[in-house]
This record gives sequence, structure tokens and C-alpha cells, in this order.
Amino acid sequence: MDAPRADGAARLPLTDLTDAEVTAAVVACGGKPFQARQVLHWLWRHGVDDYAQMGNVPAQLRTALAERHPLRGATVAKADLADDGTEKLLLRLRDAETVECVVIPDGERTTLCVSTQVGCPVACIFCASGMAGVKRNLTAGEIVEQVLVARRRLGAARRLTNLVVMGMGEPLLNLDALLPALQRIHDADGIDMGARRITVSTSGYPRQMERFAAADPAYNLAVSLHAADDALRRELVPTSSAPVREIVEAAHRYFGRKGREVTYEVVLLEGRNDRPQDAVAMVEVLGALPCTVNLIPWNPVEELAAARGLRRPAKARVDAFADALRRGGLNVTVRRQRGADRSAACGQLRLRAAAAPPAG
Ligand code: SAH
Ligand code: SF4
Repeated sequence: MDAPRADGAARLPLTDLTDAEVTAAVVACGGKPFQARQVLHWLWRHGVDDYAQMGNVPAQLRTALAERHPLRGATVAKADLADDGTEKLLLRLRDAETVECVVIPDGERTTLCVSTQVGCPVACIFCASGMAGVKRNLTAGEIVEQVLVARRRLGAARRLTNLVVMGMGEPLLNLDALLPALQRIHDADGIDMGARRITVSTSGYPRQMERFAAADPAYNLAVSLHAADDALRRELVPTSSAPVREIVEAAHRYFGRKGREVTYEVVLLEGRNDRPQDAVAMVEVLGALPCTVNLIPWNPVEELAAARGLRRPAKARVDAFADALRRGGLNVTVRRQRGADRSAACGQLRLRAAAAPPAG
């Protein structure tokens, strides 16, 4: 990986160091470079959360390393387990900020949904994550740690099979951390998850989509479109300046370059973007493209429902919208509601934690 950073990596958690920095730290602690490989193996392959578990690393080296670098940066502050096995985890970071990730078991599959920012700058009108703006980007280590924590909690019982970058934050506005984090997650010497099992969701930044397309390997891309009409989309995603046409063109180029069909996500809000004319507009824009449209009936966020008059559409409206798209030749899926949605949709666990009186 990269060369050690010029300002040194003092006190950073080991998860935030590049391989070269881990080697430099091991050598500075009196160890040999091959021992760095062992440390990295324990950290990423086995996902140990304590230096004491690094069996073949001499105790003296472990102690010296631990003095310089905590092994991890995040701790689990809260865990919410739903009846269907979905578990929402609130992680406390080193600066006491919190982010959430969700483990979703589903048959043979177990998917983890990770966050990339504390809050979100995009401020979609229906989303809890964007309600208080963005506090900061997550580091690459903080993104990968969500995977380590999830794997640890699943233990031997279930293997983590899929990753969706659909938690808090806009992933493509934090590409500098996202790309190395995904590399770690994909790396055969590390977590070893196939790129086909990794999906990144964006609210649509064409330039950043190009940069994402240039990175190897080919991850899946999901684009949160919500509306095919520019004026309506600006109402729903007020900070977005890119016209729908540019977003769709960038997504299509992604397909051309990577051979991966793009999924468009549409959060449906009653009377706002689920009307017959909204379906017609969507067919006009997407109808001829190889893609899938994933309809997501809005998970109500109490504060937003009250303040903005937003409503989740009834099933009949969702079905009618889906049928109209299908008649227009589109592949359509409708997202089922999962435990995590019922107990708290994306960004809401953090919201509740912030609103709750301090413990004790
Ligand atoms: N910022 C990125 C990824 C995180 S949001 C993006 O917007 O794509 C992941 C998905 O959850 C997006 O499609 C988003 O529109 C959707 N979402 C956010 N809040 C929601 C809610 N309350 N109900 C249903 N879907 C929601
Ligand atoms: Fe940010 Fe995505 Fe939420 Fe929009 S939907 S505010 S982009 S996290």
C-alpha cells in the first residue's frame, strides 16, 4: 500500500494505517518486516480485537505496538436486534461521534450496510441522516471497522456475504476513504469479499461517478434517482445541482465501462413522486436503458413526517407505480420492509441516541 504519511501516524488506530505504516510501526517497535505481515493477517483476516490474540507475535512487540497504536478506533455503543434477526449497531468513534451499521440476515445471505460519513451534506428531504448536515468524513479505517465488528458479532454462525454502502452519508463525497476501505474489504489477504458482492449507493454526483468508475475492481453501483424530472428531483434532493440527464449518462457510462448494470433507487413518497406522471417521466428517461429500478416505500421518520407532511404510500399506490414502470419495459423490484426499517430507518438510530437523555 502507500508510503507512510509525512506527518507520521502517531496514535492512529492500527485500522487506519496503510500496510507500509504498519511495517514502519513494527520495525520502530523492534520487530521485523515479516512480523508486520503477521500483524496485518491477525488484524484483517482474523479480525482480532485485542493484541493479546495475535498468537505468533512476540508479547514484547505486541505491548510496544499497543502503546503506539490502539488496535481499533470504534466501539459498539448500542445494538438493536429486531425479530427477523436484523441487527442495527451504533458505533462510537474516537472523537465520540457516532455512526450506524446494520447486519441483515436473509436466507443464505448476510448483508452489512455501512456508513461513510457522520451525518450527510446532501439533505434529502425524507432522510434522517441529512437532518443535521454532515459533521465529518469517516476514515478508511472507520469504514472497514464496521465490517470487522459485524463479522465478530456474527461469529462462526453466519458468514458476511454482501456489503452495501447505504448507511449514513454520501459515499462518493468521501472517495478518498471509500476506495482504500473497499480495497481492504475486497483484498484476498484481508476480508476477501468479492467485488460483485459490494454495492455503493450514491445520490448522484456525475464527476465522482467517473472517478469511482476508474477505480478497480468493478463494484456494483446504485443511483438514488427518486424522480426523473429535474424540478421534482431538486425538491427531493435540494442540494443536487446535476441534471437528471447527466446523472443517468454517468451511470450508463459506468455500465459501459464495468459491464455492471446500474440499479436506480426510488424512495416513494405519497403524492410527491409516486403519481402516474412520475412513472411516465421515469419510463421516458430510463425505459431504453439496461437497468433495474428498486422502489423503496418511504420509512417514515417522525420528525420529517410532521414537519414536511411526508407520507409512506399505501401498497396499492406502490404496486400501481411498479406496474406502470413494468409496462414501460423496466425491470422493477420493490424493497421489502425489514426489521431495521421498522425499528429505525437509516440514520434514525443515531438520531434517537442523540435525542435520548444521557445515561446515568
Ligand atoms: N447517500 C447515499 C447512500 C445512503 S442512503 C444515497 O442517497 O444513495 C441509501 C438509500 O436509502 C438511498 O437510496 C436513500 O434514498 C434511502 N433512504 C434514506 N432515507 C430513507 C427513508 N427514510 N426511507 C426509505 N429509504 C430511505
Ligand atoms: Fe444523504 Fe443518502 Fe440520506 Fe440523501 S438519502 S441525505 S444522500 S444519506
